Amino acid sequence: PKEKINILLLENISDAAVAEFKDAGYVNTRKITGALSEQDLIKEVKDAHLLGIRSKSRITPAVLAAAKKLQAIGCFCIGTNQVDLKSATDQGVAVFNAPYSNTRSVAELVIGLSIMLIRRIPDKNNAAHKGIWMKESAGSYELRGKTLGIVGYGNIGSQVSVLAEAMGMNVIYYDVETKLPLGNATQIRTLKDLFGQADIISLHVPSNKSTTNMITKQVLKHAKEGAIFINYARGEVVDLDDLKDALEKGQLSGAAIDVFPVEPEKNGAAFSTPLQQLPNVILTPHIGGSTEEAQHNIGLDVSAKMLNYLEKGASFGSHTIPAISVPAVENTHRILHIHRNVPGVLSEINSALSSKNINILGQYLKTNDHIGYVVLDVDTKLSQEAFALLKEVNHTIKTRLLY
Ligand code: NAD
Repeated sequence: PKEKINILLLENISDAAVAEFKDAGYVNTRKITGALSEQDLIKEVKDAHLLGIRSKSRITPAVLAAAKKLQAIGCFCIGTNQVDLKSATDQGVAVFNAPYSNTRSVAELVIGLSIMLIRRIPDKNNAAHKGIWMKESAGSYELRGKTLGIVGYGNIGSQVSVLAEAMGMNVIYYDVETKLPLGNATQIRTLKDLFGQADIISLHVPSNKSTTNMITKQVLKHAKEGAIFINYARGEVVDLDDLKDALEKGQLSGAAIDVFPVEPEKNGAAFSTPLQQLPNVILTPHIGGSTEEAQHNIGLDVSAKMLNYLEKGASFGSHTIPAISVPAVENTHRILHIHRNVPGVLSEINSALSSKNINILGQYLKTNDHIGYVVLDVDTKLSQEAFALLKEVNHTIKTRLLY
């Protein structure tokens, strides 16, 4: 019954999420404004079935151990670093997030920055603030007809591509995968060639081994004289000393950087980068995806994933429970069984049910290195009995019966 489900939401999660839970019939939702200390969290999570957090709550092994009823954690943000995923996996707790809800916010801003930089607005803005009149057209250009080089043609890169073409730009992109172009964009085989052809280069790659220090002087030296460089992806991708050098030499005529190898944890904390004080450089504090719309979309996305898991066992998008997303069979009840991934569990489940003549009407298994996840549909009249049998299966971590 829905009124028995306790939902705990911390850190001012978007009202969009609160409304989704309410509309789905869950009335026991408790909102706490800030993040809690580990000790307070341990007290508060005891009765929670669903927990919503943002990036400041630390979900440690001790918090998870105290959360005996917890089915799922929703990270209402982009990452999941704040959750101990290993412990969550061991305890069969699903962990969801919203990796793509802010992609449009980044894509729009990249177009805005491109215009600002190609018109040398930062310099003119600085001068005007200092009382200097700097009216000139030399070195200022339109975007139309220029070539944008996108590095990483994923969710954000491909959206930038569409917006840039609407501005009249030619778009080329480099990606490790072969990607179908949107619009008239063209995939380029090497990073070096992309740098050689682009008037504006924008990075949209993830942070991983292959992208760490991907952009150094070895790559920058291939840039067209006076090109513009934008990094709204991840700080560790670019060597900032080499970038500074390329800007000072005039190889690049401007840059916009949002992400840095080391970023302050809190607003107001000291921040320094070699790029400070350079002309025509826009520096922003990792706000590429920070908009009201993105927060709203994150609220909708994560609450939908949590409700789908709670009500149907659909684990698609979870970082802990293996992904299963299947429609329920009619006239059945669904049992979810999470177990340690050791040989023999599925056959024990099946023989336990067949020993009582309980027919399985649908069954799906997915495993990862640590746990196995079985979704099982049985006749509604036999579901209680089947549920009792499954709870006793060896290596069981968690079971749930859905009506
Ligand atoms: P995505 O996973 O959808 O796309 C990444 C693309 O990069 C993929 O097409 C992938 O094949 C490609 N790629 C991976 N390794 C590569 C390599 N070595 N060389 C070339 N291409 C490579 O990711 P996304 O959602 O588009 O996000 C892109 C980046 O933007 C991520 O780093 C993300 O963290 C960052 N981001 C930043 C902000 C911000 O606030 N500044 C907001 C959202 C996302």
